[in-house]
Amino acid sequence: MREEKQSFGRRVALVTGGSRGIGRCVCVALAKAGFDVCINYAGSKQAALQTLELCQAQGVQAFTVQADVSTAAGCNKLFAALTERFGRVDVLVNNAGITRDGLIIRLDEEDYDQVMDTNLKGAFLCCKAAACMMLRQRYGRIVNMSSVVGLHGNAGQANYSASKAGLIGLTKSLAKELASRSITVNAVAPGFVATDMTRAMPEKAQQAVLEQVPVGRAADPEEIARVVAFLADEHSGYLTGQVIGVDGGMGI
Ligand code: NAP
Repeated sequence: MREEKQSFGRRVALVTGGSRGIGRCVCVALAKAGFDVCINYAGSKQAALQTLELCQAQGVQAFTVQADVSTAAGCNKLFAALTERFGRVDVLVNNAGITRDGLIIRLDEEDYDQVMDTNLKGAFLCCKAAACMMLRQRYGRIVNMSSVVGLHGNAGQANYSASKAGLIGLTKSLAKELASRSITVNAVAPGFVATDMTRAMPEKAQQAVLEQVPVGRAADPEEIARVVAFLADEHSGYLTGQVIGVDGGMGI
């Protein structure tokens, strides 16, 4: 089998929004796979420290960085900390995301901007900074956390769906741009995952979504993290520009 052999002294992963939910599980899955992990978060310091402990228990090095990825200043702070501590990045997982749901007539500009800035601009800024490092390394893996609603849309989530659809365009364009340097760029599109994000939905709305899931249940965040870890693997070098649905059949 062809292998992209790298003389890795250490392998480093950066996960945005690694304090809770899917991001925490991604951090732990990558730590289990042997990556040192940079855990980014916005405000939940205690949760980030719990993720840190879980990663360190896997015997790798890890550290947390508070930084708001929706701003260029936040991303600069994040990459400065990463560069100082680890000096490289082999895997970037753009996982940080928020919702500000509402029907279009009630969505205001701020709801739109906050969601787009966090979910899409944050990923763009992190991809740009990581690409500079990965191009020098001639190696990298980027995974963007999209959503089933980025492919199919969802009433009440015009802003969120647009941000997740935008991530797919970003993923495909960067896949074409970076492939010749052994840098892959893929997206994962989860369906309904049991995290704080979905627990915040009214019970009735949760039930309505679950009825659309052929598998008949919400995903465990670990089920998403396994797919991210697969895409992040050095043997996944022929897989790029793809959107992998992990949605219990919702997207069929
Ligand atoms: P979650 O439990 O609400 O966690 C969100 C994470 O993003 C937290 O770690 C949060 O940090 C971080 N974050 C938010 N804004 C940030 C910012 N400006 N800068 C840095 N970090 C920020 O969400 P989740 O359900 O795990 O979702 C993770 C990703 O999967 C999101 O992109 C989401 O859109 C996507 N997704 C989720 C589902 C689902 O059903 N849950 C389905 C499809 C896609 P703090 O803890 O510090 O706030």
